[in-house]
Amino acid sequence: MLELGDRYLMNTYKRFPIVLTHGKGIWVWDKDGRTYLDFVAGIAVNVLGHAHPSLVEALKKQVERMLHCSNLYWTEEQIRLAQMLSENTLKGRVFFVNSGAEANETALKMARKFGRKIRENKTRILAALESFHGRTYGSLSATGQPKYQEKFKPLLPGVEYVEFNNIEALRNKMASDVCAVILEPIQGESGIKPATEDFLKEARKLCDEYEALLIFDEVQCGMGRTGKLFAYQHYGVEPDILTVAKGLGGGVPIGAVVANKKSDVFEPGDHGSTFGGNPLACTAGITVMKEILSNGFLDRVGRVGTYFKNSLKQLKKEFPRIIREVRGIGLMLGMQLNPGVEAKDLTMRCLEKGLLVASAGNNVVRYLPPLIVTEKNVDMAMDILHRCLKDMVQ
Ligand SMILES: *Cc1c(COP(=O)(O)O)cnc(C)c1O
Repeated sequence: MLELGDRYLMNTYKRFPIVLTHGKGIWVWDKDGRTYLDFVAGIAVNVLGHAHPSLVEALKKQVERMLHCSNLYWTEEQIRLAQMLSENTLKGRVFFVNSGAEANETALKMARKFGRKIRENKTRILAALESFHGRTYGSLSATGQPKYQEKFKPLLPGVEYVEFNNIEALRNKMASDVCAVILEPIQGESGIKPATEDFLKEARKLCDEYEALLIFDEVQCGMGRTGKLFAYQHYGVEPDILTVAKGLGGGVPIGAVVANKKSDVFEPGDHGSTFGGNPLACTAGITVMKEILSNGFLDRVGRVGTYFKNSLKQLKKEFPRIIREVRGIGLMLGMQLNPGVEAKDLTMRCLEKGLLVASAGNNVVRYLPPLIVTEKNVDMAMDILHRCLKDMVQ
């Protein structure tokens, strides 16, 4: 299979050498029948784990009713999911897409239209260094990482970067020609780095002062990942536009943009998406939202997250030569390794012992388990991690 894969699939991912066939809860199986504890969850996608009974049931019913009908018509599924997202966030209206990159594309287009309504040249966009917003041209341009951009220039003009969590830098770049500031409340791909409260508060203040929109990209840190529905709810700072994807469909591709009244500038003809918000994807979204918002779910994510983080900190104490820092909120955790230790080495060792974990950024091991994970599951993962780290110091 791996040979066939090499022959027929473009060489864009450094994949782990296993072929996955199915999953149940927090477990997945490969083609050779080996079992793995899944602490990647499809990169924060499978929030309810694999083959969750409510999701399977709801999707089966929807497949029999209708898969798709285009945005030439209304569907109740799309309206209901928009209502759930709106009422639990910015109270504004929603546009549906199919991925995180597309959600950010949409937000950037809204920001430019918003700015140009005020002044012709109010089109500048500020983003953070080390951010990740996706691979399409607009979202790639907002991604403050040269390694992803260099080969594909020229990019979208008018995007500039400031150091993440650097209030002075943001203040210096802010001006009346800025139409938006886009930030991840917790930077994910570059290594699980939470924003400071002061930084987000200052971003909010500056955006208000200069009539710019504040966009929060919660594609990775949203959908219950941190123990609140969205990470910004920990900070007491509300964006004007919120972008969502990854966990929203629990594995069915769907993304969303929620806008408050001020930023809700689109009119018919401005934007569109053939698949965006189709009834199958929205049924998945409704089911996932219902589960996450059900009694005690988010509290449990917070509790297990704290337990997990404390366990990782304990591990750091035991292996100070390997682990430099443990970061993150809820079930979005990262373990920064010391220089000279390879995150890839540790993730491969974990795989061999039956634990899936991913790496991120500059030598960080990233933990994004399904949100249904329990303390007992965390103990199993810790046991494997512990054995791998012991082997590494041998
Ligand atoms: C994954 C990610 C994206 C891109 O999402 P895709 O669905 O891969 O396009 C954008 N922003 C953040 C914060 C992400 O983690």
